[in-house]
Amino acid sequence: MTLPTRPGLEAVPAYRQGRSAPAGASKLSSNESPHPPLASVVAAVQDRLGTINRYPDMSAAALRDALAARYDVDAALVTVGAGSVELAAQLIHAVAGEGDEVMFAWRSFEAYPSLVRIAGAVPVAVPLDAEHAHDLDAMLAAITPRTRAIFVCNPNNPTGTVVSAAELERYVAAVPHDILVVIDEAYVHFDRTDSYGAGIELFRRHPHVAVLHTFSKAYGLAGLRVGYAIAPREVADNQRKVAVPFGVTDLAQTAARASLDAEDELAVRIEEVVVQRDRLQALLVDAGWPAVASQANFVWVPAGERTSELEALLHEGGVIARAFPGEGVRISSGSIDDIDRVAATLVRKEATV
Ligand SMILES: *Cc1c(COP(=O)(O)O)cnc(C)c1O
Repeated sequence: MTLPTRPGLEAVPAYRQGRSAPAGASKLSSNESPHPPLASVVAAVQDRLGTINRYPDMSAAALRDALAARYDVDAALVTVGAGSVELAAQLIHAVAGEGDEVMFAWRSFEAYPSLVRIAGAVPVAVPLDAEHAHDLDAMLAAITPRTRAIFVCNPNNPTGTVVSAAELERYVAAVPHDILVVIDEAYVHFDRTDSYGAGIELFRRHPHVAVLHTFSKAYGLAGLRVGYAIAPREVADNQRKVAVPFGVTDLAQTAARASLDAEDELAVRIEEVVVQRDRLQALLVDAGWPAVASQANFVWVPAGERTSELEALLHEGGVIARAFPGEGVRISSGSIDDIDRVAATLVRKEATV
């Protein structure tokens, strides 16, 4: 007798976490904030530790109200999840079922194909263009009668490229209204182009747009697991049905609210990461690597067959990056010290060739 396996699960790859780093190394493999949590956030969380015998507020009302006020939207349209990856799953489950199609660019966020398959739906991956950016014309042509949702990751993980506000607007206007367009803005805070904030504006103007944001990256709360979506009412209502109850802890809700109150302090840190990101890209280009200009908190190096060489070189220098074998290496923008270390590693290599 063998235990049953749900048909289709064999096609779901297990999620791979960015490599952990040995003590003293620079962990630049998971696009985390290089900064320790803000003192005000730590204090707010500590204040709530004595209540963890209780379940959290399942509706996360205080956090959702704060977000609704910030974006001037109805709180009923705001949903929270254990990281925006959970919200991506909720959105897929809310609109797609067995045999339906969910589209995304490729390469993009690694979780998309698995989340789609877990929902029983069919992933449709549309190759990025030659500039490592979304090919929105191809993503329009790939729509079929089975398409239920389309993810546009902007800026895109792992390439750091963006589609402009105007391109995105044209695309959203061309997609039929019975298909949900999910704009995943996990890295929007690092975007210094006009696509910054485009997701929310498109949400306001079109009936079939949802936006995903997370506290994991710019806000530095990856370890607490909290993100949010702003979605059309009928989608948000269905998200609440498919959500795992009590998925967002009280500590996570508290930290998220405290972070919203500390945005000026966070902005200084975000700016530092942006400066180091641009420095990282320039360093790589100077050392002869084809690093792509990025609007996220990481830099993509489409090194192709030299991928393992670059990964090994960085590793020798104490830098842990994320390698996609045969395709490229994604290096997160860390602290000034982290990027100093990348610089030293690349220079050492030049001296030995
Ligand atoms: C990191 C990431 C997320 C979600 O991260 P959470 O920690 O689950 O909030 C979502 N989308 C993209 C593209 C990401 O890179």
